[in-house]
Amino acid sequence: MATFKHSFDHAGFKGDVEVPVGLFINGKYVKSADKNAKTIPVVNPTTGEKLFDLPEGTEADVDLAVKAASEAQNTTWGENVAGFERGKLLMTLATLVERDADILASLEALDNGKTFGAARGFDVPEAAACFRYYGGWADKIHGKVIDQSKDKLTYTRHEPVGVCGQIIPWNFPLLMFAWKLGPALATGCTIVMKPSELTPLTAAYMSKLITEAGFPAGVVNIVNGYGQTVGNAISGHMDINKVAFTGSTAVGRKIMESAAKSNLKKVTLELGGKGANIIFDDADLDSAVRYAAQGIFFNHGQTCCAGSRLYVQSGIYDKFIEKFLAVSKKITVGDPFGAETFQGPQVSQTQYDRIMNYVECGKAEGAKVLTGGERHGKTGYFIQPTVFGDVTSDMKIVQEEIFGPVVVVAKFDTEEEVIAAANDSIYGLASGVFTQNVQKAHRVANALHAGTVWVNCYNELHSQIPFGGFKASGIGRELGEYALENYSEIKSVHVRLTSYVGPVPAA
Ligand code: NAD
Ligand code: MN
Repeated sequence: MATFKHSFDHAGFKGDVEVPVGLFINGKYVKSADKNAKTIPVVNPTTGEKLFDLPEGTEADVDLAVKAASEAQNTTWGENVAGFERGKLLMTLATLVERDADILASLEALDNGKTFGAARGFDVPEAAACFRYYGGWADKIHGKVIDQSKDKLTYTRHEPVGVCGQIIPWNFPLLMFAWKLGPALATGCTIVMKPSELTPLTAAYMSKLITEAGFPAGVVNIVNGYGQTVGNAISGHMDINKVAFTGSTAVGRKIMESAAKSNLKKVTLELGGKGANIIFDDADLDSAVRYAAQGIFFNHGQTCCAGSRLYVQSGIYDKFIEKFLAVSKKITVGDPFGAETFQGPQVSQTQYDRIMNYVECGKAEGAKVLTGGERHGKTGYFIQPTVFGDVTSDMKIVQEEIFGPVVVVAKFDTEEEVIAAANDSIYGLASGVFTQNVQKAHRVANALHAGTVWVNCYNELHSQIPFGGFKASGIGRELGEYALENYSEIKSVHVRLTSYVGPVPAA
């Protein structure tokens, strides 16, 4: 069996960890069914060196995973298991994640480059909370009785959609795994999951915990591999009833197209963003500065809801910029396992190059680098926290998602003007408003075209609160009660309590 072994020795955790990295199909670790399958090099972004070779899955493996998932759906899962029992398993999984929090956070930091502190303080506890939250829902999912007339009993059933394909990205590998699994398992669906080929480790470790928690074989299957092969096989599969995707808008389009061309499976998409963060003159300045920095530099800017466009009102602009630059310069960049580190490396060479291209493009477009704008250090994929001033709305760095520690700042005068600028985007995932005026806060929140508006805070997420995008930022909502709809088929049952009524004559 293919395993990845690593000895951790840092302030947060010391110990040897073994992760099964083979394909996880029907509760077993297997080799690819395709003899031509190769391996994928998985790289440590802190050093640029290879960590291990990940066995690659193929279309044939997706087929086997779908068969296992269908079998489980019809026998050991779905409506064959009481909601209460499904809920108990999810809660056990939450407890196991908490038990192994140091291991999971260490693996996440090693593989993705996010800091151990952030993974241990945010990603891992939020993943556990998500499993527990949906564990709570599992026995509270039910239809309604609809009193159409006294002659009829009419009710709805919320049945599981069945086999679901889930394709997740590399920016929050464990947390996205949890966001996808939680509602699908609570509603009684089975899963074929494809983690990102850049960050497969925490999902692979979770396969052990899923087995330990007691989920029946085949309920969750994990097929690693590339998007064009495994991802494409999932989105076009005839026996997958729903696909949930988080990643780029470009791939989101392909997923929808391939769903349409195959069996019209249900699609939810959580795509890119270009969050507008608006700071009014009457904001609590120090708090706004810190939230604005958190809004863009959290997770090294690799956050779909990042506050990557800052709009600052003219009366506070100079003071804000002075403090914001001071904070940006204080962001510690370096080893993700360093206790003081706030920002680790970007996830890959490709992402590093992509971000640096945008930085060069911003300079060429005439935007002014107020701080940063260069590589940090000599090895790994580190980029200085970067702030661009003097930007105009036509610039590429203002319109396109950079997905790195790069923020653009523009000055505005009126509320009307800033609402128009904020909404001038193909995206509509998240926005922020900073003001102490309660009327203005709500007025602007209502006017913004975005799935989330943060007032006097930024990047705050919670399992109970739905998350998703307007416009090209996606389709559907994850988290909260709303996410259950993505995994439920609603069936209406009409029961007539009388004999025949209608125009057909009696015999
Ligand atoms: P991506 O969309 O290519 O990758 C996301 C996932 O989709 C991965 O698991 C990948 O293997 C899979 N995938 C790729 N091509 C596929 C296909 N044809 N069919 C099915 N699945 C496929 O993202 P990326 O190339 O790693 O990053 C590029 C940009 O995407 C980033 O710079 C950022 O702008 C955006 N992004 C957004 C998010 C988000 O949270 N919304 C996450 C990651 C990346
Ligand atoms: Mn990696």
